[in-house]
Amino acid sequence: MRYDDSRKVVLVGTGLVGMSYAYALLNQNVCDELVLVDIDKKRAEGEAMDLNHGLAFSGSHMKIRAGEYADCKDADIVVICAGVAQKPGESRLNLLQRNTAVFRSIVGPVVESGFKGIFLVATNPVDVMTRITLSLSGFESRRVIGSGTALDTARLRYLLGDYFSVDPRNVHAYVMGEHGDSEFVPWSQAMVATKSVMDICEESGGRYCVEEMEKLSGEVRGAAQKIIEAKKSTYYGIGMALTRITRAIFGNESSVLTVSTMLNGEYGQTGVYVGVPCVVGRDGVKQIVTLRLTEKENGKFASSCDLLRETFGGLGLDR
Ligand code: NAD
Repeated sequence: MRYDDSRKVVLVGTGLVGMSYAYALLNQNVCDELVLVDIDKKRAEGEAMDLNHGLAFSGSHMKIRAGEYADCKDADIVVICAGVAQKPGESRLNLLQRNTAVFRSIVGPVVESGFKGIFLVATNPVDVMTRITLSLSGFESRRVIGSGTALDTARLRYLLGDYFSVDPRNVHAYVMGEHGDSEFVPWSQAMVATKSVMDICEESGGRYCVEEMEKLSGEVRGAAQKIIEAKKSTYYGIGMALTRITRAIFGNESSVLTVSTMLNGEYGQTGVYVGVPCVVGRDGVKQIVTLRLTEKENGKFASSCDLLRETFGGLGLDR
C-alpha cells in the first residue's frame, strides 16, 4: 500500500553511478520506496537483494525491489543513470547518438506509464542528455533536471575551503556552464561568508591570489579524468550529489544547487540546458538565480552554451 506522503524513486540504470546513488539513498533514508530498472534485469534483481540485506543495519524502512517502467506511474522522481560506455576510438558524437537511442528506449515507456513527477538525469554528457529527456518527454522544463555542475561545485567548495582554511559550508562559489571542459568559476560571485574572494585576495598581501584559485578550478575540471585514470570511473561523488538533489526535492527545501536546467532568456541565453544556480524544491526547478557576471564571465558562459546548443543541434531532435 502506498500512502500519499510516501516518497517513491524509480532508478533506471543500476550500474556503478546508479547503485552509488541507491546506496546513499538507503544510508540517508531519503525515500520510502525504491524501484530498480535496468536492461539487465538480473543485475537489477541482484542489486535489490544486496541492498535489502543491508536494510536491517540502516535504520530505514525503505521498500526496495527490481521493477518495470510501469512502476513509474506513481513515482515522484525517475532518476536516469543508464548509458553505454565509450568504445575505444569512438567519437563523442557517436557515443551521444547511441545514448540517445538508450534514452528513447527509457523516456518513452516512463511517460507512457502515466508518470507525472520529476526526471533527474546523470548520464553524460549530462546537459545534452537532459535536453534530450525534455525533448522526448514533452514535460515542462522545470520537471526535467540534470545533475549539471552540482558535483563540480561541491568539489570547488571543498578545495576553496582548504585553500582559505575555512569550513566549505561557509564558502559560496559556483561552477557554471557545461559539466565538462567549458565549465568555469565566476570569481566575481565567490564569497567566504559574505566577503568576496577577490577582496580577500586583494587584502592578503599576496598570500591568496586569483591565479592560485584558477589552479583549483582547473583541478575541479580535471577531477573526473584523474579519478578515471586511477580507478576507471567515478561514482560515489555523483551518487551523493544526486542524493542531495533528491533530498532537496522531497523536502521542498528551495535549496540553491547548480543543476542543469533550460534557460529561457536568463543570462541572455535561450533553448539550452546548462548548469546554473537554481532554487530546487518539490516541483523541481522553482527559480533560476541570475548572478551579475562580469563581461568576461558572461563571454565564458556564452561559449559554453554555444557548444551545448551545437551538440544538441547535431542530433536533429526538435524542441
Ligand atoms: P555502468 O556501465 O556501470 O552502468 C550503466 C548501466 O546502464 C548498466 O547497468 C546498463 O545495463 C544500463 N543500461 C544500458 N542501456 C540501458 C537501457 N537501454 N535501458 C536500461 N538500462 C540500460 O556506467 P556508470 O559508471 O554507472 O555510469 C553511468 C552514466 O553516468 C555514464 O553516462 C557516466 O558517464 C555518467 N556519469 C555522470 C556523472 C555526472 O556528474 N553527471 C558522473 C559520473 C558518471
